[in-house]
Amino acid sequence: MIKIKFFRSLQLIILLILTVLISSIIWTQFIMKDKNIVQDYRTLSMFSPELIIAYQEKYPSTWKDYIAILSAQHQLEGQNDSIIMNLHKQIDNKTLFEELIWPDKYPKYIKTAKYYRTLLDKYPVYTPDNYLFPLQGPSYFVDTYGADREGGARSHQGTDLFDKKGTPIFNVCDGTVEKLGWNRLGGERVGVRGNDGNYYYYAHLDKINTDLTIGQRITKGELIGTMGNTGDAITTPDHLHFGIELPNTEWLNPYPLLKVWEYHRFKH
Ligand SMILES: [Zn+2]
Repeated sequence: MIKIKFFRSLQLIILLILTVLISSIIWTQFIMKDKNIVQDYRTLSMFSPELIIAYQEKYPSTWKDYIAILSAQHQLEGQNDSIIMNLHKQIDNKTLFEELIWPDKYPKYIKTAKYYRTLLDKYPVYTPDNYLFPLQGPSYFVDTYGADREGGARSHQGTDLFDKKGTPIFNVCDGTVEKLGWNRLGGERVGVRGNDGNYYYYAHLDKINTDLTIGQRITKGELIGTMGNTGDAITTPDHLHFGIELPNTEWLNPYPLLKVWEYHRFKH
């Protein structure tokens, strides 16, 4: 009798341990991972595209170091000029990022700059020519992410790129075609699941490329369709609504990314 009771409780304990173990694996592998990705991308979308472009031009091999150092300067609480200059000087003198001598009075700044530096490697959204600007010529577009739509009922979750009806639209990165055809707001739309895990959304198309099928592989630069004003854009000038949805279904502000992609596509 006692023996049976002992085995019962042992079974229960093992079951309990297994449950805790499995849930913690699920938590760290899926839920936390998504949370980190979202936080990482949000941080990247706060970087200044103008600054990135300027440093990429001037320092093609070390721009990430400069940008990480500069973008973290809000952690210096105003005491920044000489510290930034000193760090930049070290990079000018070919010191590797991992070997920089940091100002030890500002541990928060150091931590942030190092975190930013890892992001630029981990998510190469600003790395020249890694992603393709979706139009064949420079376009007029501004940052309207978060602006009111339908009288404040929802907010704008992407960037609008204006050009003539029929302007070809190209796929920005390698991936798989996930959605094709009509939806109420987007009109004729194409959704591509990038190899990076993000969902790339092309809306208000006049015509979708008829060669595309759901589930097919699609490479960077392939034709998505042509620009139009279908869906809720019916009363507006022709434009491409371009969106990037992160794995947790939150929409990222694509504006700074588009700015950098546009620059690299047309600088020559
Ligand atoms: Zn839009």
